[in-house]
Amino acid sequence: MKKFSFSSPFNRRQFLKDLSLTLGSTATGLSLLSLTSCNTNKSGNKEQSGETSGQNGQGRKLGIALLGLGKYSEGQLAPALQETNNCYLAGIVTGSPDKVDKWKRKYDIPDKNVYSYESFDQIKDNPDIDIVYVVTPNALHREFVVRAAQAKKHVICEKPMATTVEDCQAMIDACKQNNVKLSIGYRLHFEPHNQRVMELGQKEVFGPVKSIKAADSFKINVKPEDWRLSQKLAGGGPLMDVGIYCIQGVMYTMGKEPIAITAKYGEKTRPDYFKTVEQSISWQMQFEGGVIADCVSSYNDEAGFLYGEARDGWWRLDPAYSYSGIKGETSQGKMDFEEVNQQARQMDDFANCVRNNKPTQVPGEMGLRDVRILLAIYEAARTNKKVGI
Ligand code: NAD
Repeated sequence: MKKFSFSSPFNRRQFLKDLSLTLGSTATGLSLLSLTSCNTNKSGNKEQSGETSGQNGQGRKLGIALLGLGKYSEGQLAPALQETNNCYLAGIVTGSPDKVDKWKRKYDIPDKNVYSYESFDQIKDNPDIDIVYVVTPNALHREFVVRAAQAKKHVICEKPMATTVEDCQAMIDACKQNNVKLSIGYRLHFEPHNQRVMELGQKEVFGPVKSIKAADSFKINVKPEDWRLSQKLAGGGPLMDVGIYCIQGVMYTMGKEPIAITAKYGEKTRPDYFKTVEQSISWQMQFEGGVIADCVSSYNDEAGFLYGEARDGWWRLDPAYSYSGIKGETSQGKMDFEEVNQQARQMDDFANCVRNNKPTQVPGEMGLRDVRILLAIYEAARTNKKVGI
């Protein structure tokens, strides 16, 4: 059987063909196991999570302030906050005064809950705001997470958590010192198809995992001066931005850390555009026992899948990481899960953790773990050497 090779990492059709040849065995017993979450939803994958009042909490919706009103806040998080049960959009923090009126009107936000980056620290005196959600370019996460923690607000920070391990640690420390919770915006932990992969892999439903393949790529179309193309603000290119979903997918399939990484930068066909960040990268994550995860991420391709092969069966999600329309199949047939609002579930779960003083399943420590892996991948690509984790 022909083995998939990442020497031509962006030939997705070949990848799919190889995979369909590879994945063919029959599946054994399948058990539906619930996943840990602050929400008490243990009754099955089709059920929406969410509670209207915490048993030990204040029995009210917690107020979230979105910090950084870019595309993700505007297109996903604010709309999701119209569907949440445990929290609501209470405030905004922005460096763009021209955005304020539109947001205030659209979401009925009072003046007293609107902050600039300069006035942000005063949020400590505002009882309407329980949680600050940091949605700025990656390298700025640290500053705002630390300031939010110092204002005694719980924090959600977008992925990747930061661009250095030191920044991640400082964010975790600040939240601990100020006795507030910190979670990372890992929305797919609240998405049923991805939750199923966690079960299939970690609970060895089809026996031990043998191999994983993952890709997350898109054709980027931003201005050359956009922060996503700046090493300083983004910390890297597609790997930092979307390749992190492959890392996440691999990690929640395996439920344990890799032992070593190898990696290779792809060719820069547009060096004038991708001046300081990679255009594409492929990498392998090696686990104890010989399991290998083959991954790729590019700003010049379209792909978004997570495949796993176990001893007695296989699964594939494609698309695996999108906001909606995720599709999945196993060696036993098609997955049949309802579409959920991932961000609403994610924020409801965190609000519930805060209200009930429970740990989040996507904590700062997970963000730090992933940044460590991201940086090891860059080191492996730069040095062309296997990097231990
Ligand atoms: P964006 O470019 O659309 O918005 C960035 C926001 O940060 C803007 O409001 C901008 O004004 C503000 N900002 C503050 N200081 C800035 C500076 N010095 N330079 C540029 N912008 C500055 O980006 P986005 O897509 O909303 O991404 C924001 C964060 O959210 C990133 O960390 C990204 O990785 C993350 N994100 C996560 C998901 C997800 O699915 N979880 C999806 C998209 C983005």
